[in-house]
Amino acid sequence: MACIFCGSSGPIDKEHLLNRWLRTYLHDEQAGRPGAQITGGQNKPLTRKIHTYPLKGWRRVVCKDCNSGWMGRLEGTETGVRPFLEPLVQGKPVVLSVQDQELFMRWIVKLAIVWEYLDTDTITTTPALRRRFMETQLPPLATQIRVGSFDIYSASTPMLYWHEAHVMQGEHIGSSDALQAQWTSITIAHIAIHIFMGTWEEQVTVGLPDHIAPKYRQIWPVLGAQSFPAAPLITQLDIARMMHPVD
Ligand SMILES: [Zn+2]
Repeated sequence: MACIFCGSSGPIDKEHLLNRWLRTYLHDEQAGRPGAQITGGQNKPLTRKIHTYPLKGWRRVVCKDCNSGWMGRLEGTETGVRPFLEPLVQGKPVVLSVQDQELFMRWIVKLAIVWEYLDTDTITTTPALRRRFMETQLPPLATQIRVGSFDIYSASTPMLYWHEAHVMQGEHIGSSDALQAQWTSITIAHIAIHIFMGTWEEQVTVGLPDHIAPKYRQIWPVLGAQSFPAAPLITQLDIARMMHPVD
């Protein structure tokens, strides 16, 4: 397997789904249990899958150079998300500056790309998209990311993952080609992240259902400084209603 970002054939490293310092905030009475749920499938809108994996899960999909280079810097204290992500996942008050949100976006896009490898049948990103993200640290223009505060007492596990792979076509995306996009929700302790990421270069405005839209703050494209915790809190049921329900 080659590195999913730079294409190098090695050496290939384990990429943990969540890095160690973040996992420490998920160590409650449920932390030993599996905590992932994936729905949907590319060209298979009626397919429903539920996968589970342990919180300490990893995938062997990135090379050592990427993992210890740009990816490592994204996680770090000096150059990465830790200074604001640590209080965010604990539900503590944080104001995210424009620069914080740009950094947070990179970390979330990296996460969304790697986590798609939990199920190789439903990967939406292309090798060109992943390489371009590595080189420019920017996702395709057709990307919209929102973050809200999550009600951990509504959750069955400390971390949840919903993923849908869509194939889109037609006027609303300005293309007659079939283009792939992911529609993904991730909760990590006190935060809920929602990602729409298409594979094309045109800005999109993706509407969310009324019951949940006001609970999120858009962090990409950046609109301005954002304060957390955000009210009202998002519940597991809110997200389950937004994502296509699992039969
Ligand atoms: Zn690499």
